[in-house]
Amino acid sequence: MPEGIIVKALSGYYYVQGPGDAAPVQCRGRGIFKKRGETPLVGDRVRYSETENGEGAVEQILSRSSELVRPPVANADLAVLVFSVVRPELSLVLLDKFLVHIEHAGLDAIIVLSKLDRIPDGEEGERIRRDAGAAEALYSSIGYKVLKTSAHRGEGMDELRSALEGHINVLAGQSGVGKSSLVNALVPGLKLETSEISDKLGRGKHTTRHVELVPIPSGGYLADTPGFSQLDFAELGIDEIGPCFREFREYAQSCKFRGCTHTHEPHCAVLQAKEQGAIAASRYGNYVAFMAEWKENKRRY
Ligand code: GDP
Ligand code: ZN
Repeated sequence: MPEGIIVKALSGYYYVQGPGDAAPVQCRGRGIFKKRGETPLVGDRVRYSETENGEGAVEQILSRSSELVRPPVANADLAVLVFSVVRPELSLVLLDKFLVHIEHAGLDAIIVLSKLDRIPDGEEGERIRRDAGAAEALYSSIGYKVLKTSAHRGEGMDELRSALEGHINVLAGQSGVGKSSLVNALVPGLKLETSEISDKLGRGKHTTRHVELVPIPSGGYLADTPGFSQLDFAELGIDEIGPCFREFREYAQSCKFRGCTHTHEPHCAVLQAKEQGAIAASRYGNYVAFMAEWKENKRRY
């Protein structure tokens, strides 16, 4: 039985891309999934049967490596976090928040600093460049790939293409950071609507559409959901926040107390690393802020 990947779900049909170049096969789901409370998701690797009329049926869902709630995508393994350097300006708080979610969901992440061509001249521009450079240095030192792009001028796009190759990618980032523009550059012909008009008002558009996995000509799939400005993941426990800060992990093993919150405990190796500058003050500060926010709201973020 052939194996394929669900690239689209619409009106009770699943469109399964098989191993070849042929168009996706329109498949029905099996009643058995419903009985078991399983829902095939876009991104699912499945076994499917083909009938004579060219339709097919999803017979089996293979085990998932990840599962996102919004966008509803299975097996995404790389989150592309898009942050523009201007309009809106880079926010490390938001970046760290996205990273917590992504680490928790078990995806790897790359950080794309977009709209490089839009940095103004003069002192303001120099400050923006400095901040972008510092962010690049910080996050690469933690182990995230950081790319600088301009969708308009094509800068950094080859690096982006090769980073996405072989992955099921999801884009995330605030409205107006240039996600649609990047997608349009990656997948010519897709023609996603960019938010020219709302950008003039200083805010982006909000669109929700059904998810589709679009093959990137240079390799890999892209979840076609640039309207989503946030990724929602399953609820986080408070003790799950710390491990989502990648660089804390190696130190946390040496904390004296099990369940150390790295805030006030004696002989805390994370605190020590922060004091010695091995953990960045901004990262540690955001960790403490997220813990406080969690306690205040008792809600996920
Ligand atoms: P999205 O909301 O994240 O999908 O962002 P869009 O792709 O719709 O872009 C928002 C605005 O930023 C639009 O006016 C784009 O033309 C503009 N923009 C996107 N990428 C770039 C870029 O690389 N350079 C410049 N100068 N503007 C960009
Ligand atoms: Zn500790």
